[in-house]
Amino acid sequence: MTKENSFLYYDGARRSATSHRYFDNINPATGKVLHSVRSASDADVENAVESARSGFEIWSAMAPTERGRILRKAADILRSRNEEIARIEVEDTGKPLTEAISVDVLSGADALEYYGGIAASLHGEHYDLGNSFAYTKREPLGICAGIGAWNYPVQIACWKSAPALACGNSMIFKPAELTPRSAVLLAEVFTEAGLPNGVFNVVQGEAEVGQMLTRHPKISKISLTGEVGTGKKVMADAAKTLKHVTLELGGKSPLIIFEDADLDEAVNGAMIANFYTQGEICSNGTRVFVHESLKAAFLEKLIAKTQNLKIGDPMEMDTQVGALISEQHLEKVLDYIEQGKKEAKLIVGGERCNNIEACQEGYFVTPTIFEADQDSARIVSEEIFGPVMTVLSFSEENEVVRRANDTIYGLAAGVFTRDLVRAHRVVGQLEAGMCWVNNYNITPVEIPFGPYKQSGIGKENGLATLNAYSQLKTVYVELGKIDSPY
Ligand code: NDP
Repeated sequence: MTKENSFLYYDGARRSATSHRYFDNINPATGKVLHSVRSASDADVENAVESARSGFEIWSAMAPTERGRILRKAADILRSRNEEIARIEVEDTGKPLTEAISVDVLSGADALEYYGGIAASLHGEHYDLGNSFAYTKREPLGICAGIGAWNYPVQIACWKSAPALACGNSMIFKPAELTPRSAVLLAEVFTEAGLPNGVFNVVQGEAEVGQMLTRHPKISKISLTGEVGTGKKVMADAAKTLKHVTLELGGKSPLIIFEDADLDEAVNGAMIANFYTQGEICSNGTRVFVHESLKAAFLEKLIAKTQNLKIGDPMEMDTQVGALISEQHLEKVLDYIEQGKKEAKLIVGGERCNNIEACQEGYFVTPTIFEADQDSARIVSEEIFGPVMTVLSFSEENEVVRRANDTIYGLAAGVFTRDLVRAHRVVGQLEAGMCWVNNYNITPVEIPFGPYKQSGIGKENGLATLNAYSQLKTVYVELGKIDSPY
């Protein structure tokens, strides 16, 4: 364990924090402390804000083509360091290396490349008004703060910084305290790519440091990925200075499998929707509604495939299920499983797994499936954020749409059917910001991803996100004489 202090990043270099508060950076697969990380103090946050202010002056005045070139170069450097950063991400999160190498770093690089390519195409419009004209300019907001969750740390840092920087903003990013390291590596990548000092900054710490950002009068925008409760607090704090907010929050998404679905595809879809990243994915389709005529065959295949999943040391390339993020989260997931045993029928898994060589102290839970018949059961209605799937049955389309929508959340939804007319009819009625037909949890950077209802506000990815990191200035120009009433 190292007592590492240089986890902050501002003015283009790693910096030591100055508070007296430390938190542990723990490897969830082993339970071992990797680093003791010092939280940012008020003074450190002020330094980061000053750094972001001076970075903004340079960056916002730079030609958009140059901004785009730097973002694309950062994407290339990130790709070239994929395995190294993926390994650090695995140590921090406990997720399988095979996932981190193929998704986490590369999807972050995709965002840098995509928004780097768009930077030079941002433009306003011209309005011909006869004897006058007007035009709009798309301008940056200023200093934006990104506050991340722990499940996809480097991807989240890229998904927030890429559109923010493409629009000419600077950013201060606070990773979740459980996963502090990859954001600092990303900052180094940006500097190597030629990003001016101060444009991307990192502060570390718990909620208190997040609040320093959400309450800071010089910060114009907050983009949070986190729980619904945190989103409400962040929005209330941001309201005091009327900041722009993007909130990417939790979910309990429905996955509907109709009687005509391809059975193997539906089983694969349900597993991707529940067991990827040990189930720690916001958009997971944890309420799996299967048509009653298909349920027995579906469960038979699902159980066999789930029992075959390899749970193990996340660093081994054949591991498919890694460790949960923390001991506290492990307890929470196990509590839900205990609760589930009273509310529904446990059919697979449901146990802590502590017989993995070299990982006996890790926070592993076997992939778990419940067969449930009550939508109001806690395991069916509350976000667990672990490898816990509930399978429910339905008989009518109208009935399943009503039940799917009967939730405060609205992040995502999925439909498996061969009848595309029905697929579009059903997704048209689903109250969810991201819907998949015959697939699940696919999030290419080109398409907007984001919530409805209490799962949050705003989008990430796609062109839509540019609106969230820029503002339109309208300029009216008189060419004739003022038509004065005086
Ligand atoms: P939390 O809400 O606990 O934390 C998210 C971030 O907010 C962390 O950096 C946290 O700091 C910080 N934070 C906590 N309280 C405050 C506050 N009052 N003011 C400012 N910042 C604060 O979420 P988790 O990290 O536990 O992540 C899991 C949640 O994230 C799940 O609900 C999941 O569904 C959601 N999520 C949503 C996604 C989406 O795109 N919609 C994607 C991924 C996850 P710290 O933790 O360091 O104390």
